[in-house]
Amino acid sequence: MEKLPYEKPYIKKLHAGVMNKFGTRSGVQPVKSIDGVLVKTLIENYGSPVFVLSEKQIRKNYRSAYRAFSTRYPKVQFAWSYKTNYLNAVCQVFHQEGSWAEVVSGFEYEKAVGNGVPGNKIIFNGPGKSNDELKTAIKNDSLIHIDHFEELNQLLILSQELTGKPRVAIRVNMDTGVYPLWDRFGFNYENGEAWTALSKVIDSGKLHLAGLHCHIGTYMLTTDAYGIAANKLCDLAMNCQTQLNHKIEYIDMGGGFPSTNTLKGAYLPGQDTVPSVDDFAEVITSTLLNFGFANEDLPMLILESGRVLIDDAGYLLGTIIANKRLSTGKRALIVDFGVNVLFTSFWYDHQVSPAQDFMPHNENMVIYGPLCMNIDVIREGINLPLLNPGDQVVVHKVGAYNMTQWMQFITLRPAVVLIDEQQRPHLIRSNETLGYIEEPEFIPIHLKANK
Ligand SMILES: *Cc1c(COP(=O)(O)O)cnc(C)c1O
Repeated sequence: MEKLPYEKPYIKKLHAGVMNKFGTRSGVQPVKSIDGVLVKTLIENYGSPVFVLSEKQIRKNYRSAYRAFSTRYPKVQFAWSYKTNYLNAVCQVFHQEGSWAEVVSGFEYEKAVGNGVPGNKIIFNGPGKSNDELKTAIKNDSLIHIDHFEELNQLLILSQELTGKPRVAIRVNMDTGVYPLWDRFGFNYENGEAWTALSKVIDSGKLHLAGLHCHIGTYMLTTDAYGIAANKLCDLAMNCQTQLNHKIEYIDMGGGFPSTNTLKGAYLPGQDTVPSVDDFAEVITSTLLNFGFANEDLPMLILESGRVLIDDAGYLLGTIIANKRLSTGKRALIVDFGVNVLFTSFWYDHQVSPAQDFMPHNENMVIYGPLCMNIDVIREGINLPLLNPGDQVVVHKVGAYNMTQWMQFITLRPAVVLIDEQQRPHLIRSNETLGYIEEPEFIPIHLKANK
């Protein structure tokens, strides 16, 4: 007979489902499959841990966000925020849906070109564009969003010998009533810098001012901020039209709409507290529509939403390594994925579900990753049934930022699988290998191992 692992006896009251403040039981439910594919099978075929993305959910999110804006405003365009998740398969889903690309580095710019996005549908944001990157963007007729005066001057120099005019926008920051202010990107509205910058662009005669841009924050919980921001961009656009006789083609409101994840330490789940895309759309479009533009002069509205479109389409599947009882008596669960691959566990209380049936007893526990570091905490406190080594778990709403900000630290990054609308899984990034990690390394001759 197999010997059971020894665990020190410990007497603690177990709860059969805990009451929450609404009197309902916070019933933990097993999540055994994703889009019809068994968690067990996914882990068997692709390893543990593994990221899984639902193509169906991505498309659903995109379509409902697009609908929220396009039913309220005549000219709407989304541009997929590459840094949120730039796996090519993911980008292609958004491009198929009609999204342009929004990139913030030369590396992302190259990815967008590689994905077949026409140059004039790439929005190039960010404070760090090199001369060569700007030249490429100009050649491809991309939309260059200027972040600071150095960049504006750089562009003026580059445009000296050109016959055509590079298409640019001014990134504007402003007081939206949300603090701390995001004033490190772009030109400030209140102190007149934004106006100075856009006048300079128009006066130069060398650049074409196509749009005005802002990105006022991320995981924004107030729709009012967007009303204020839209109003300030409209004000600049209108002044541009009346005082400089120049019509602005588009207003780009950036990203920042929250996903339904729960922020760390929040009392109520994100699902119940965050405004919907419809709420944001209502505020933004009504501001634009009521500002006083003639119908034919209404600027196109661009959105660069990231996390709201993909967070809930992403899952991380993993396996329990061990259980522990801490000196305080608290139970700890060790899983096979750490904060190196689940970066967002620093901000969110991610929902974690067992992937198999379990006994009805819950206990509050801490979930640790396998990294040899104190910061490696997936959840500080979560009610879960008692899970055993080898049991599997599903972490929810991890589609945004994790697959771009993950770190290759003491472990290899896991595979990523996309489940298509016909419930077929596709490997879209294989798990890393030692060879892949060491490929760019060199060993000086005197340090080579004698073989
Ligand atoms: C990161 C970023 C986005 C996407 O932000 P979300 O908060 O994920 O919607 C959009 N625009 C710019 C300029 C960004 O830097």
